[in-house]
Amino acid sequence: MSRRVEHIRHSKRVTRGPRWKALRMQALDHDGWACVVCGTHKRLEVDHIQPVRTHPELANDLDNLQCLCGLCHTRKTRIEVGHKPLTPKRQQWRDMQRNPVTHKENDHADI
Ligand SMILES: [Zn+2]
Repeated sequence: MSRRVEHIRHSKRVTRGPRWKALRMQALDHDGWACVVCGTHKRLEVDHIQPVRTHPELANDLDNLQCLCGLCHTRKTRIEVGHKPLTPKRQQWRDMQRNPVTHKENDHADI
């Protein structure tokens, strides 16, 4: 099993739990419904600061939760599971692919 799949499996165990829903709302409230890294209000997810994989005892600890957008969350997870972060150029391209509306002029960029 790849390390990434294992990572997802571990956090699923927590996010399926009945307490997660309430905890998630508390965490979002705590961070003002904004990504703590880039400040966006879109596509918010609640992240475990210390991964559940290594710190299962902190899985339901509000202090261990932070609000991240999908992009920042993916970036953090990549680093945690041992992938090197994308180069800025590569990341820029990725971001562009995910937000085609705001980057219309680059629609046909061929990288
Ligand atoms: Zn973000």
